[in-house]
Amino acid sequence: MRTRYRAAWRTAAFLAFLAAPGWARGATILRNARVAVSPEADPVAREIVIEGGKIVFVGARAPGRYAGADAIDLSGAVVYPGFVDSHGHLGGLGKSLESADLKGLASAAACAAKMAAEKTPPGSWVEGDGWDQNRWTPKTFPDASVLDAVFPDRPAFARRIDGHAVWVNTAAMRAAGITAATPDPAGGRIVRRPDGQPSGVFVDNAIDTVMRARPAPNEEDIRRHFRAALASCAAVGLTGVGDASGYGSKEIGVLRSMAAAGELPIRVYATIGPGEPGFDALLAAGPIDQGMLTVRAVKMYADGALGSRGASLISDYADDPGNRGLLLTPPETIESVAERCFRAGFQVWVHAIGDRANRIALDAFAAAEKAVRSKDPRPRIEHAQVVAVEDRPRFASLGVIASIQPSFATSDMPWAEVRLSPARVGESYAWRSLEKAGARLAGGSDFPVESNDPRLGLYAAVTREDAAGLPRGGWRPEEDLSRRDALALYTRGAAYAMFTETRRGEIAVGRDADLSVFDRDLAACPPAEIPKARVLMTISGGKTAYRAP
Ligand SMILES: [Zn+2]
Repeated sequence: MRTRYRAAWRTAAFLAFLAAPGWARGATILRNARVAVSPEADPVAREIVIEGGKIVFVGARAPGRYAGADAIDLSGAVVYPGFVDSHGHLGGLGKSLESADLKGLASAAACAAKMAAEKTPPGSWVEGDGWDQNRWTPKTFPDASVLDAVFPDRPAFARRIDGHAVWVNTAAMRAAGITAATPDPAGGRIVRRPDGQPSGVFVDNAIDTVMRARPAPNEEDIRRHFRAALASCAAVGLTGVGDASGYGSKEIGVLRSMAAAGELPIRVYATIGPGEPGFDALLAAGPIDQGMLTVRAVKMYADGALGSRGASLISDYADDPGNRGLLLTPPETIESVAERCFRAGFQVWVHAIGDRANRIALDAFAAAEKAVRSKDPRPRIEHAQVVAVEDRPRFASLGVIASIQPSFATSDMPWAEVRLSPARVGESYAWRSLEKAGARLAGGSDFPVESNDPRLGLYAAVTREDAAGLPRGGWRPEEDLSRRDALALYTRGAAYAMFTETRRGEIAVGRDADLSVFDRDLAACPPAEIPKARVLMTISGGKTAYRAP
């Protein structure tokens, strides 16, 4: 009796609760917002209601039934579809947040001094990131002796800005057993002094010969790196990230447990890597969809990078006759792995910088597609940096996404022409030409190579100027993108590149509540103001991932 009475009372209370204006508990209203519902749309005064991770209302005034919902007054801020970085490295960013930032430093000695000032957890190698000999005088690779002067006993290493070379000290080489007798591996180079002794710089596939001696990060390290990187991404307005690291089962395991525990503040679309532990099992198990975490892509490397002359070119480097760069994966392997991925329902991402690497990737996708005839594979070329003019239309005809990094153009412009020759530089960083040729573009930063801040990517895409506004009018401005097309790189384009264009990339009822809120209209403000826009709020999956203090 008592139980029945209590049940009846509960029902009545619940009905009263439903009838009250505040019943839409759990809903959130964004008020006083200017909403740009798509990359093409101008911001218009709107209210947005979010419930259960979805957008349930967009319009002039939210219906009365939401009157009791949590309200956030945006005071005229501009709300965009969630900005997504299509290509970054969360683990690398997390690590780099713990290591010395060497970007922009003017000498090897300055890099060593900065590393000495950093507090490195005991037991791990001292770490630096982002040196670039192209900024030094003379523009030559650094030597181990410069690091030895600061770290005589403790292993120390620093990645080149493009991640395609490391510079280490003698203690690190000793730990790895590197001597004059150590041969260059296929697809890599150990830079040597005139007497044949390794000088301390290891390029592309040679990186692993020294770095394999470094103690591997444990799961707690990996989790800490992911956590720091995701917080950093949320703070620059990103609601999601495509992670191009090509992880193994350990990193994927950490991401899965973070997703299950609700510890992913923004969405992660992760790739797995052939050659990484557990790859076959991960591929066989099929794509993973855990809401905030998706794992359904495989990352391969066709070549290296232009800065270290590792990009694979059709003809010689203009500044190094006889050198055409390095192929990191044999073309037939790219093709066979692509075929396996298509069959397993995985997307394929191939890193291709040089024109030869781009052609090899396109050929591999064409062959794999012919063999498998999968319905909608959406293969991606990461970077698509130097593409032969005759290969441009193949992106559209083969349905290949060009996953581009607008900041690369402005970072590389001081030396790209020297590497490529004035004639061939016209084939490079040709974002507008690729788009005109029908390629679908997605935008990213390749963080931590470049900043993860999408405002900087937008700025680079539309101005082709560096942070100082140089060169005036932009570097090869015929390849810039319109403001709308640049916004689409990070919204609709990124959504398409992750198979989510019907759920994200625009603001509409029924779509996921992934929103980036800025203090100004990024399509209308003067271009120089884009990097100065303030990120006010980042909402991913309906939850606040970041709110400006
Ligand atoms: Zn990358």
